[in-house]
Amino acid sequence: MRATVMYGAGDVRVENVPDPSLVEPTDAVVRVTQAAICGSDLWPYKSMEPDPNGRRMGHEFIGVVDAVGSGVRTMKTGNLVLAPFVVSDGTCVFCQEGLQTSCLHGGRYGFDGVDGGQGEAVRVPHADGTLVVLPVDEDDALMPSLLTLSDVMATGHHAALAAQVGPDKAVAVVGDGAVGLCGVIAARRLGAERIIILGRHPDRIALAREFGATDVVSERGDEAVERVRELTDGLGAHSVLECVGLEQSTVTALSIARPGGAVGRVGVPQGESIPNAPVFMENVTIAGGPAPARAYIEELLPDVLEGRIEPGRVFDRATDLDGVPDGYRAMNDREALKVLIEP
Ligand SMILES: [Zn+2]
Repeated sequence: MRATVMYGAGDVRVENVPDPSLVEPTDAVVRVTQAAICGSDLWPYKSMEPDPNGRRMGHEFIGVVDAVGSGVRTMKTGNLVLAPFVVSDGTCVFCQEGLQTSCLHGGRYGFDGVDGGQGEAVRVPHADGTLVVLPVDEDDALMPSLLTLSDVMATGHHAALAAQVGPDKAVAVVGDGAVGLCGVIAARRLGAERIIILGRHPDRIALAREFGATDVVSERGDEAVERVRELTDGLGAHSVLECVGLEQSTVTALSIARPGGAVGRVGVPQGESIPNAPVFMENVTIAGGPAPARAYIEELLPDVLEGRIEPGRVFDRATDLDGVPDGYRAMNDREALKVLIEP
């Protein structure tokens, strides 16, 4: 089969790799119908050391079950399934607590002999614990929105929960990438009326407004902090969603939280340090991390199926596998917001 392999910064190739097959009785093999390029795929795209063995890419996908091991109970051949961005067994203490990203027997796509999602097929370990059977057909128009539940929409929701979003709270979202935009959807969904987005890309800001953002701050650094304070009676935001992960964006997020507020961090941290002083002195809560998408799918799925949220609108480009390398380039150049792959 064909799959996406990264060999180093800026070096993404689509090549022939071995076809996946069942290894453990709890495995399923899934033929991928939709996948995506993630903002987090851009970090290795910018910085990966050359590796002659390459690294299989992709962790967001939907597909049709092609084969199941003898121990798989919840799905059968032909079922359409959604894959959260990590593997989890569904039974360990952390899975039981809804923190599948810390599963004691979990794993990641593209590592330890597991295929990446940006290819024709994937062997999924712990199929019962990992995959969710979707109650729609393969060609359903909702597919892009359903695909976001594997990562970006779940991550935006996680940021909103970690930031303690709720009715009557002023929310600020740092970052106008796909996760930030999903953070706006999540904040609106949880009842926030005031949603300030910090970003400067006109198309993304326009989409943020359609998703429910009420105010836009296009300044950066100290000026951005000043603007958010002006918009919040000089106090700062109750809830701040940090959806970038750079040191500067994290500093901004911490600086615009009001005393007693909360910052939900979901951008994969690229900086080394967090400034402690204002956070400590103002009793600001910092929470967040990788989203347990598997835990949130049950809650978010009805909203997608019934059209109450449309996170699939973050996809502004689609390609087959041949176009994947250019998809990486386009997202890295901020020419595309998020790329949908139809192998
Ligand atoms: Zn587990």
